Amino acid sequence: MAERVFSGIQPSGVIHIGNYIGAIKNWVSIIDSYDCIFCVVDYHAITVGYTPSELRERILETAKTLIASGIDPDKCTIFVQSRVPEHTELTWILNAVTPVSDLERMTQYKDKKLQNMDNINTGLLTYPILMASDILLYKTNAVPVGDDQAQHLEFTREMARRFNSRFGDTFLEPKTLLGEATRIKGLDGNTKMSKSLNNYIALMEEKEDIWKKLKVAVTDPARKRRTDPGNPYICNIFSLHRMFSSEEELGFVEKGCKTAEIGCIECKQILAKNINDTVSPLRDKMRELDRNTDYVMDVLEEGRKTCSRLAGATMEEVREKIGVIY
Ligand code: SF4
Repeated sequence: MAERVFSGIQPSGVIHIGNYIGAIKNWVSIIDSYDCIFCVVDYHAITVGYTPSELRERILETAKTLIASGIDPDKCTIFVQSRVPEHTELTWILNAVTPVSDLERMTQYKDKKLQNMDNINTGLLTYPILMASDILLYKTNAVPVGDDQAQHLEFTREMARRFNSRFGDTFLEPKTLLGEATRIKGLDGNTKMSKSLNNYIALMEEKEDIWKKLKVAVTDPARKRRTDPGNPYICNIFSLHRMFSSEEELGFVEKGCKTAEIGCIECKQILAKNINDTVSPLRDKMRELDRNTDYVMDVLEEGRKTCSRLAGATMEEVREKIGVIY
């Protein structure tokens, strides 16, 4: 039997090329080798400010984007977290075996606290327990995570160990599934690509908009004039070429930048074309799914049924072990 992999994505707005390269593309590459479950983690998304009517749309939009990006529902399971209440049930039980100090130590909690000073809710603190529940509920063997989520996965393993040692062997300790280490910087060249920093190219961005954004993206500041040679290794545009351009184009850009044989505009035009070539089939598929929302709803319903069955079996075991079945 194939090992089980679980991963989640928040329906928190625009999915950008950083999400695609850093996560979704890796997921697509493993669906033939693992029993994959992909979850739209809507309960994670409500720990920060949001508008309910927008969230509703984003849940469906996120599911469509996954399918349009190549997450084939015939080969894996896609579902929405809140439709399987066992996630929150297990979270409550794990709450009762988690020291508060472990949660307060989490780097993401410290960051989120600073970003949401007007809304430091308990969900921000207990977020890793919900995440651990998502994973442990399905007896997951492996989780594809980026380096920014490594601490959460270690926390999940610790939760499994803690529960197992108190109540007997129940949960697996999931291993890390390392994909290509790809963290894309935003168009400002400084920070991680993110919607909140408005430094992103959306995965479904139209061709003209890709160019509009790239045209003003930060490059090597040493290239003030067209004739100034540059250093591609410190330029984020070159990093993006590594993700979207061919070896031949990479060589051309690398040499052309160092010798000033090409200008930044030409360099960016090649990149814009390559990004558009990558995302244009996804955009087409997305449009097709927009016309066929019933299909997406059916996929999510099938996913809910599969996950309810799996999560239900785990929770029966958990309830028995913690002594609430009488
Ligand atoms: S030519 Fe390309 S790699 Fe070199 S500085 Fe300009 S945008 Fe960056």
